[in-house]
Amino acid sequence: MSESGTPIVVDAVVVGAGVTGIYQTYLLDRNGMSVLGVDAADDVGGTWYWNRYPGCRLDTESYAYGYFALTGIIPDWKWSERFAGQAEMLRYVNAAADAMDVRRHYRFKTRVLSAHFLDDEKRWQITLDSGEIVHARFFISATGPLSASKMPDYKGIDLFKGEAFHSSRWPRDDQGNLAGMNFAGKRVAVLGTGATGVQIIPIVAETAGELFVLQRNPNWCTPLGNTPLSDEDMNLIRTRYPTILEYVKTTDTAFPYHRDPRKASQVSAEEREEFFERLYDQPGYGIWLSGFRDLLLSRESNQFLADFVARKIRQRVKDQEVAEKLIPTDHPFGSKRVPMETNYYEAYNRENVHLVDLKAAPIDEFVENGVIIGGELLEVDVIIFATGFDGVTGSLDRIDIRGRDGQRLIEAWADGPTTYLGLQTRNFPNFFALVGPHNGSAFCNVGVCGALQAEWVTQMLLYMAARGFVVAEPTEEAEAAWTEAIYRDFERTLMAETNAWWIKVTHKPDGSVVRRTLVYVGGGPEYRRRCEQVAYCDYEGFEMA
Ligand code: NAP
Repeated sequence: MSESGTPIVVDAVVVGAGVTGIYQTYLLDRNGMSVLGVDAADDVGGTWYWNRYPGCRLDTESYAYGYFALTGIIPDWKWSERFAGQAEMLRYVNAAADAMDVRRHYRFKTRVLSAHFLDDEKRWQITLDSGEIVHARFFISATGPLSASKMPDYKGIDLFKGEAFHSSRWPRDDQGNLAGMNFAGKRVAVLGTGATGVQIIPIVAETAGELFVLQRNPNWCTPLGNTPLSDEDMNLIRTRYPTILEYVKTTDTAFPYHRDPRKASQVSAEEREEFFERLYDQPGYGIWLSGFRDLLLSRESNQFLADFVARKIRQRVKDQEVAEKLIPTDHPFGSKRVPMETNYYEAYNRENVHLVDLKAAPIDEFVENGVIIGGELLEVDVIIFATGFDGVTGSLDRIDIRGRDGQRLIEAWADGPTTYLGLQTRNFPNFFALVGPHNGSAFCNVGVCGALQAEWVTQMLLYMAARGFVVAEPTEEAEAAWTEAIYRDFERTLMAETNAWWIKVTHKPDGSVVRRTLVYVGGGPEYRRRCEQVAYCDYEGFEMA
């Protein structure tokens, strides 16, 4: 209800003020629709608002992530580094929000508690934690694939009396600046060695009295290779904006890399080594995304690269016992997102850094002054939980979303999401999950793919308005075919063997375990080709009324 007691009525509610949400809000507004945006933060930024831990930065080339600059929304934007840091990223999203003038549509510091589809009225009733009720024709989530932070549930975790926080909730002072950046004289534990932990560890190592890295499974990490961008670099990049955007649209992930057309077995061992050296030395994701085309399909091809990277780890880490513990044995190279690191392995050469192998001795419990590991107390003053996120569906699971006949989304997706184009689910009419499960934008350079998706959804809503349709949802057949193909194609990749954040693992009451992919692996160009074909064929596969 608004203050007058009647519901606020808008055409669309957009949940999220990150890079995708603000662009969706802008597009709808520009096309004459009324929009209410909602975000729990006190300003725009999404992932760049929340993740302020030291070392946080893009692992995508800034200019390739920069959809708002590339498309002329903020043409004068100047990146200072090849891979921009969090503070710069947040300024960038703010500049884009200013240019698009979207803040006026948003309720900040507000959460969506529930969204229920009212079948008679063909509208969504959305309840906010401010007590307000909103009625909207369209309910669009842009909550991001990695926004629902995940804390472990070890015994005694609340008993710890020192400082403890999740990486995405780093303490801030009254001005919003990071607090607790200096760990001088402190004993600090970091739990988790995913992309986040790998960025945090070398920075905290510089000031901590003692740093204990609590590692369950290591990851394959490779050098980021960040460098400053000069004015000349930026001038050149600006002249190439149209080319950059067109180029990233042609690659599978919208990162500026294409796979090498060869299979690993087609070249000699010397050539492979020389090729891997070049990839390792080049900045960014090249080693993962422009290596041999069968990297994620052939075990042999994967092993060649894994062996190469393992040799690099052994060269960079002085203590060979530590080096062995840092080499993954549980998953193929690149079957989880490869953390891009800066001096990560060198951190273990410092005397104040200690690798604690949780596989050798697991965490028993947390106590007032530390963690008991393998029966022994590790006393610490600070614990940083770099334990990741409930990926892709986690943020939606935290909203009480109910479709037709009160059907709950969390139940409809209990055995894994079922969607059409990763955008809509049957019986949840007019609900669109941008960058949601099974959608070609989640496993992608979100800065670009999320925006392209927002453009597509806008076109679909305009089509509906032009044709006088008020509701859309997938047909049963279209949804079944899309979902089946997603699960089938994923199983063919080596990624199916891991428990990365894009796999939903459900433990069933009968003791069985269901593992379902949350992402589409067909690549951005194929995804968009399908979307364009669907649109051209009058939104084939959608039922509109
Ligand atoms: P993550 O990759 O899911 O890693 C979580 C880490 O916490 C893993 O090492 C995991 O160990 C550990 N962990 C979780 N629960 C645990 C428990 N109960 N006990 C012990 N260890 C536990 O999460 P993330 O590092 O936050 O990264 C998530 C994604 O965010 C990345 O894949 C990437 O897509 C994105 N990201 C991007 C950037 C960037 O550079 N732009 C930076 C950070 C993150 P196990 O492996 O054993 O489960």
